[in-house]
Amino acid sequence: MTPSSRITSIAGNGPDGWEIYHKAQKMAKSGIAITQLTIGEHDIKTDPAILESMHQSAKHGNTGYSDIPGIPELRQAIADRIERQTSVPTNLENVLVTPGGQAALFAAHMAACDPGDVGIYCDPYYATYPSTIRAAGARPKAIQTCPENKFQPSREKIEQALEPGCKSLLINTPNNPTGTVYDKSTIQGVAQAVQEHDLWAISDEVYDTLVWEGQHTSPRSLPGMPERTIVVGSMSKSFAMTGSRIGWIVAPENLIEPLADLALSTTYGIPGFIQDAALFALNNGDILESQIAEPFARRRKIAFDCLSKASGMKLIPNQGAMYQMVDIRPTGLSGIDFASKLLDQEKIAVMPGESFGQAAAGHIRIAMTVDDTAFAEALSKIVKFVERLEYKAS
Ligand code: PLP
Repeated sequence: MTPSSRITSIAGNGPDGWEIYHKAQKMAKSGIAITQLTIGEHDIKTDPAILESMHQSAKHGNTGYSDIPGIPELRQAIADRIERQTSVPTNLENVLVTPGGQAALFAAHMAACDPGDVGIYCDPYYATYPSTIRAAGARPKAIQTCPENKFQPSREKIEQALEPGCKSLLINTPNNPTGTVYDKSTIQGVAQAVQEHDLWAISDEVYDTLVWEGQHTSPRSLPGMPERTIVVGSMSKSFAMTGSRIGWIVAPENLIEPLADLALSTTYGIPGFIQDAALFALNNGDILESQIAEPFARRRKIAFDCLSKASGMKLIPNQGAMYQMVDIRPTGLSGIDFASKLLDQEKIAVMPGESFGQAAAGHIRIAMTVDDTAFAEALSKIVKFVERLEYKAS
């Protein structure tokens, strides 16, 4: 028996730099000390108070099936959070609780696109985007952005990417991998484009609480946008709850109803004790979120101090999220070759820009996800590594 072509075509083809991550994992398992600056996984764990609320909820019997679109109290808390951010009236009927932002991205494309439609997204991109769009039956198409414009999608580039059959435009701010927070003018350009071409805006805002410079603007906050915006959110990054798998969609009510049907026929809801823990976390949001954000703010400064004057590479200072992009084109190496040599020689694992699309080729992405001392040490090793490369090249 052969698997369906629908399922086998979800993944893309060819090497994409993720082999470096897998190699680093293998080396670490075999006992080699690797500094992991690859994926977006915090070095701190979920706050004990959140875990205690999860434990108490389960202990008191909340272990059965839960409300499929999410428990009303949590949906309301998410609605309140989005209303605070956007000043757009939002209620629980606008909210679907999902098993993480990833499932929300899939559900959003299922809701926006019919089979064969085109879903556009911005390159560089979070690595799952193309496969998620394919999994929903649509065809992914990238909008090219460039480092000179801090990887923000210009109106012109959006227009160039549009073609008949386009149904959705996916943006991500604060952005992974680039750390860019889209300017208000970029979001306005997105809003104009989707309104003119009658598209859904899918706005991945999972890093909304990790902003160091500029201001997070959701397209939902702009006139004419609430009725065509699908906001994707998550507890993963803002509360260090990656393993709890809980996130959300905020969208017009007429989308949430059919999305609840999708949830019924796929996930059948999220565990009640996880939802209770998420509710506890959101109710204590300010303190818990700033505890999560602080280390990244410190490491951002460490990266700036260490890399901004280094020769042979150029730091693209981040404005948000938990990553730093570094332009290593002056070394003459691709991101993949650079990351591969760095892993072999220095036992430091970073992501090649090519893992996130062609627009980030010749860059590396450094996740700020080890403690400050280890982070500073790794960066100074990277600086010396590049100096040696330059010396060899000259
Ligand atoms: N969106 C972006 C931009 C991400 O970086 C991630 C995870 O790294 C996700 C969505 C998915 O997050 P989760 O499914 O853990 O909520």
